[in-house]
Amino acid sequence: MEYEKLLASAQIPFRGKVYTIAQIAPFKNDADDEIRLAAWKAEGGWYKDNQDKLDSLYDRLVAIRHEMSQKLGLKDGVELGYYRMTRNCYDRNDVEKFHDAVIKYIVPVADGIRRKQAERLGMQYPLSFADNALMFRSGNPKPAGDADYIVDTAGRFYDALSPETSEFFRAMREGELMDLLSTEGKEGGGYCTSIHDYEVPFIFANFNGTQGDVETVTHEAGHAFADWMNRTRVPVDTVWPSMEGCEVHSMSMEFFAWKSTEEFFGKDADKFRYSHLAGSFMFIPYGTMVDHFQHSVYEHPEMTPAERHAEWKRLLGIYMPWLRLDGDIPFYADGEGWQRQHHIYGMPFYYIDYCLAQTVALGFWAMIQNDYDDAWEHYMAYTKMGGSEVFTKLLEKAGLASPFDEETIKEVCEKADKWLNAYDLTGID
Ligand SMILES: [Zn+2]
Repeated sequence: MEYEKLLASAQIPFRGKVYTIAQIAPFKNDADDEIRLAAWKAEGGWYKDNQDKLDSLYDRLVAIRHEMSQKLGLKDGVELGYYRMTRNCYDRNDVEKFHDAVIKYIVPVADGIRRKQAERLGMQYPLSFADNALMFRSGNPKPAGDADYIVDTAGRFYDALSPETSEFFRAMREGELMDLLSTEGKEGGGYCTSIHDYEVPFIFANFNGTQGDVETVTHEAGHAFADWMNRTRVPVDTVWPSMEGCEVHSMSMEFFAWKSTEEFFGKDADKFRYSHLAGSFMFIPYGTMVDHFQHSVYEHPEMTPAERHAEWKRLLGIYMPWLRLDGDIPFYADGEGWQRQHHIYGMPFYYIDYCLAQTVALGFWAMIQNDYDDAWEHYMAYTKMGGSEVFTKLLEKAGLASPFDEETIKEVCEKADKWLNAYDLTGID
């Protein structure tokens, strides 16, 4: 809570005004090179100014978690973290093999995407953190309409997709189960939850006119649809699977929704498809690095804050070799950026879930390219089971490849690499 309070209290001076971390974020993607770089420097400077506090908070958290693991007779904080995340069908050896496969197959393809990006933008490789954030010179894709337009488009998509999704999304709209607009005094962020007493899901969001608005009605609605399909399941704890299982519902639904990309994004449709696939793919090295870092930290609870920073910097060189670590941007380019990742402080070992799920979702993406209806049948088979089985069993029963199999990662890489390389980016600047 101290960490969350500290970050929430940030007042960052930038171009004559003062911003919070959330408010300065859009400037970090600004298409203007000078503004974008200044925003990265201003935000990084704030973290740097607060580094003693951030170091000491994490130091205390690691110490207490290690002590808890010892009192419970466990090997270390890693084992404790796995139990707390209810890892019930794979262990750290499986996860370490996943780390290795990401380094072996995904990193080289991601590096290729970044090299092309640098070339397209006329930037130096390796990229600075600020330039890495800019995918296209003309900025990120924008939705073709306002909130009502996006929800109407989503309605048409879910109507056409299947009888189940049609019934689901109509119930969401009729029951006013989506609070989407950003209004004064409303809490930030977005999520999906269940209201069990009424056997309905609920979606909370803060629409802001970006592509994130479309991703909300596809990603969060993927979670909500899974809840809807399992809303009468007893006991209630088996409605949802564990976290990595849940993220398959949502991340895969984002790819099924490509069917309506033209409607959602209009003239930016081509830009969206490319950046969505490239972005989903390149997220995996970062997410895996977050997990790898935590393994190092809890296996060596005696590390000093300086040693932890050095470890993050070492991992950056392995997982994200396209980034320039020259100290130009304070905090980030010093290899200390892990301190802005809330999960590392608040929810140890909750991050690899996104990477495992993204690998499965990319498998769906590949299936969709082949045969949309067949892919949807697999999705329904997976989703209908709710949380009645453990993650690996859900995949097996739905006929989906496991992210713990090196072949799965290799195959996903080959397909994504081929598709991205063949993608026609002419006319997109
Ligand atoms: Zn999610």
